[in-house]
Parts: sequence; structure tokens; C-alpha cells
Amino acid sequence: MTVKRNDYISWDEYFMGVAMLSGQRSKDPSTQVGACIVSADNKILSMGYNGFPKGCSDDEFPWGKGEDDPYDNKYFYTTHSELNAILNYRGGSLEGSKLYVTLFPCNECAKAIIQAGIKTVVYFDDKYADTSAVKASKRMMDAAGVRYYQHNRTGRTITIEL
Ligand SMILES: [Zn+2]
Repeated sequence: MTVKRNDYISWDEYFMGVAMLSGQRSKDPSTQVGACIVSADNKILSMGYNGFPKGCSDDEFPWGKGEDDPYDNKYFYTTHSELNAILNYRGGSLEGSKLYVTLFPCNECAKAIIQAGIKTVVYFDDKYADTSAVKASKRMMDAAGVRYYQHNRTGRTITIEL
């Protein structure tokens, strides 16, 4: 009897992998973040990456962050991957879903995550853990009962030739 293969990727590797692949779509020269929203029964509902809203040209809007006038920096214009994934979903409710994201959500995304009914956040990196924005994010998610935990890195490398 032929048995199933055993080196298939886990659900967590699958969804974090999709979030990472999604981040590769970002045009941001300094930070590429991807997100993937999954239902309680492991179906992918939505994906997103950081970028400008529709109609705001990647070639005309600013990607920098060092100008004196914030009008000329990227921050006023970029939508984060988590918010994009939430807004990209057109299928109804995200109540009870799970979000995979390559970087811990900021305070603004935390608000959207909570209000969308997302109950679990799995993150890959938490490199801004010491910032007030991430502390505020955790404070809100703790209060709202959103569970979050770091992706358990397996060290598996997957090469995809396109
Ligand atoms: Zn954010």
C-alpha cells in the first residue's frame, strides 16, 4: 500500500508562507509586509500587502520617510497589509477569523482587527515591540480578547521558480 507523503507543509507554514508571498507584491523600498486572513476551518478568506490606495500611483506618490513635511513622506498614504486584507474581503463577516501577518500589527491595524471580529493574530516578526504603537496595539488586543502569538519558525525553506 502506498502511504501519504509526510513532508507536506503545516497549516501555519502554509498561511504564513502565503502572507510572505503577498508581501512580495509591495512596492515599498524599506518595508514589505504581507497578511493572510483565514477562517476557523482553514480556508483563505483574504490577503493584503502594504501599499497606496487605488488610484494613487506608485510612481507619483512618495515612498520616502525623511522629508520635513509629512505630506511628502509615505506614511500619510500607505495602507498596511492587515487593513488591506480586511478591506479586500468582500464575502461578508470576518467574525472569528485568524490573521497571519509577517510583522506585528500597529495600533491602527489593531483597531481594524478588533472591529472586524478577528480573534487570533499570528505574527512572524515583532521588531517594533518596544515602540508605543505596538505596546498600544497589544493593550487594545488584550482588552478586546484578541489572542496573538508568534509563528513557530520551523526553518523550512521553500524555493519557488516562477
Ligand atoms: Zn498597521
